Amino acid sequence: MTLFSPDELEYLRAETPGTRQVIHLNHAGASLLSQPVRDTVVQYLDAEMLYGGYEVRARYDADYQAIYQHIANLIRCTPAEIALTESASHAWSLAFASLDFQPGDVILTARAEYVSNYMTLLRAVRKYGVEIQFIPPDETGQIDLEALARMLTPRVKLLALTHVPTSSGLVQPAAAAGQLARAAGVTYLLDACQSVGQLDVDVSALGCDILTATGRKFLRAPRGTGFLFVRQDFMERTDPPFPDGWSALWQGTGTYAHVPGAQRFEAFESSVASRMGLGAAVQHATTLGTHRIQAQIYAVAHRLRQQLRDITGITVHDPGAETCGIVTFTVGSHPAAAVQQYLGARRINVSVVFGRNALLDLEHRQLTELVRASVHYITTDSETDALCESLAALV
Ligand SMILES: *Cc1c(COP(=O)(O)O)cnc(C)c1O
Repeated sequence: MTLFSPDELEYLRAETPGTRQVIHLNHAGASLLSQPVRDTVVQYLDAEMLYGGYEVRARYDADYQAIYQHIANLIRCTPAEIALTESASHAWSLAFASLDFQPGDVILTARAEYVSNYMTLLRAVRKYGVEIQFIPPDETGQIDLEALARMLTPRVKLLALTHVPTSSGLVQPAAAAGQLARAAGVTYLLDACQSVGQLDVDVSALGCDILTATGRKFLRAPRGTGFLFVRQDFMERTDPPFPDGWSALWQGTGTYAHVPGAQRFEAFESSVASRMGLGAAVQHATTLGTHRIQAQIYAVAHRLRQQLRDITGITVHDPGAETCGIVTFTVGSHPAAAVQQYLGARRINVSVVFGRNALLDLEHRQLTELVRASVHYITTDSETDALCESLAALV
């Protein structure tokens, strides 16, 4: 895999004005928009201002429909398998709420499951009497696939996994887990919020029935965008909880029917301008090539981890056999928020993983909080060097 050439990198940074303002190492929080994505959103808003929201939506209908095709190209599915949402959490809750559970059903998950997902599972424990079981980690820290194979008993109704957690650089073996779930006939719901846009994500290879993603992270789309993938042959098994005039057909006093595709999960109203930006960002990622993006991010993160390990007082904490562009560490006894503030004053953006947002994962690894630096293909060696120099000065 050829990495990005210096010229290409320079071009990509030039079309990202934020790279001239800050050293942005928070792409797992919200990335920097490119100028073309920003222009797409603003031009659409301007058109709404001048001609009216409904009229402009009709005029741009082909462009709007193309958003679904761009996402389908990105994760290799069909446009009818995509629903656009306002966030990944919203997509995940909608998908989860469309499934049916009975008392005693088992849901398998991992300790690094995302906070909102896990709390939604807890609600299902309270409401339906389902039971949550944790797939234990293997010696590398990823889920133990042999344990998962043993745990996939007939009582299991759902495997809910987070591909890349918010709290470390771990990449779960999501495709291998998918093969096991398929063989056992268990529904597989994959949170790909941190992997879409960062990794090459192929829903067929992953074997998931449902996948959720957000726009603002590694896809570099505007905030308030996300999407849901539901496999076509799984669609009829879903009963989305919030029908409206867009997602369902009112068929008289007694009945309504969900529309056939994943549009059944959508609501009529949304920020069309932001979605146009999402479409542009997704198209940009597929044009660059997701394999190349992944290779570039892995190379930058690998170098950063090595550099951090060489600084006395810093401990890198990313578990897993495979690690991605999210780099987590502690800086001696400095509170993570203080490190973030110290770096912020030097125009270096990092984020903090607090225990309350990664309770089970951090507790299990006997950690209370972490500093998180997340890199992207636009991150340069001189930027990670600057991070390490600042941290070395701090410790
Ligand atoms: C950020 C994140 C989410 C939530 O995404 P939103 O778009 O904020 O709802 C879900 N899962 C993981 C793993 C995340 O990192």
